Amino acid sequence: MNLFISNGLIVDPENGLEAMGDLVIEDGVIRDIRLYRNQEKSSIKNVTGDDYRIDEQGNAHLDARGKWIVPGLVDLHVHLREPGFEYKEDIVSGCMSAARGGFTTICCMPNTNPVIDNAYITLMVNSRAKEANGVQVLCIGAVTKAQEGKELADYEGMLRVGSHSSHMIDRGICGISEDGKTVEDCEVMLAAMKKAKELGLTFFSHAEPEAEIVERDLALAEAAGCRIHFCHISEKRSIDLIREAKKRGLPVTAETAPHYFTLTSNDVKEDPNKKMNPPLRGPEDVEAVRKALKDGTLDAIATDHAPHHEKEKSRPFAEAPNGVVGLETSFAVSYTELVKTGFLKPVELIRRMSAAPAGIIGIERGSLWIGKPADIAVIDVAREYVVSAEDFESKGKNSPFIGRKVYGQVECTIVGGSIVWRADREEVRKRAV
Ligand SMILES: [Zn+2]
Repeated sequence: MNLFISNGLIVDPENGLEAMGDLVIEDGVIRDIRLYRNQEKSSIKNVTGDDYRIDEQGNAHLDARGKWIVPGLVDLHVHLREPGFEYKEDIVSGCMSAARGGFTTICCMPNTNPVIDNAYITLMVNSRAKEANGVQVLCIGAVTKAQEGKELADYEGMLRVGSHSSHMIDRGICGISEDGKTVEDCEVMLAAMKKAKELGLTFFSHAEPEAEIVERDLALAEAAGCRIHFCHISEKRSIDLIREAKKRGLPVTAETAPHYFTLTSNDVKEDPNKKMNPPLRGPEDVEAVRKALKDGTLDAIATDHAPHHEKEKSRPFAEAPNGVVGLETSFAVSYTELVKTGFLKPVELIRRMSAAPAGIIGIERGSLWIGKPADIAVIDVAREYVVSAEDFESKGKNSPFIGRKVYGQVECTIVGGSIVWRADREEVRKRAV
């Protein structure tokens, strides 16, 4: 089956594109990108006037009039909760949630039960992911066995799982992290970083207390010569440290999440759905995060999608677990807050959500290259709606954005040329403001 996407605004940061055009997908690969010259119309005729139709040859036609065509979004930071916490989320529901949010590749954190710290669990997660909807799941392995901070996990074993391919996307893991906690022992950290460097893996640092551990881990990474990526950065002080390290030419990258550039500690008001780690910060930090997204000190927007059961999140604030879901609101909240307001250009936002995270883990994704796998999202940026937990595909309903008016409905998500998500027209109309 071939797929023709016509009449859309193609937004592709790697090719510097923000132009009207068509996309032709054959055998799962982007075969052609046809840009229109002034006033020129699509060469692909929409004979029926439908947004989506299958012709007699079995080819699919998607009319993207008024919509963006972008590289599939890449999320570096997701908790899929399987194995061990399937009542919160599982790989199948997490992948549905990702597809609904426009994500075609997601990286899952190892703080499951058992922990993703060996070849067997890595293989299990990878093979479960293959049974899901087609969204690509890349594991991030634990730094230490059982995340106990003592003995290094089996990085080689986890890497080798599944394939002998030299492409990072086919490997068992795409990085290592102790996400959820900080490795306290500096010697263990240094040994882990040296090993990560040797194996070409990115080290994902969960820094807590944030600025203090950012400073420590920058020094350790420099000593080890390894690539370091900071998870969920939320504070001005740590941003200043990362900016300084980048100026010195260190191979450091960092992500933030939508709640850190849209909400402040004043918004919490003891609402368990606004409780996460790191917590929401003050207005100065929020301002610093936004500036850092603009100037590139913060390379990527991740979600830190952390689903919990409703019962857990309805406990009193002090007892409720940390974490919020984010896959299905990340684009809309980011677009509404950063692009609709004129703060970021469309290509700048898409870079932070696709090309930059893909680059951090070294996978050939995040751009619309001719001849490469067709991982694409089609997004109706003009569509305004109110975020509602009932619409989520995720099992987790713990979003801090429920009730918020946003723009940006993901209409269609495509992985390797196959449609993994398409918004139901009736449902979309019902939700429209
Ligand atoms: Zn996390």
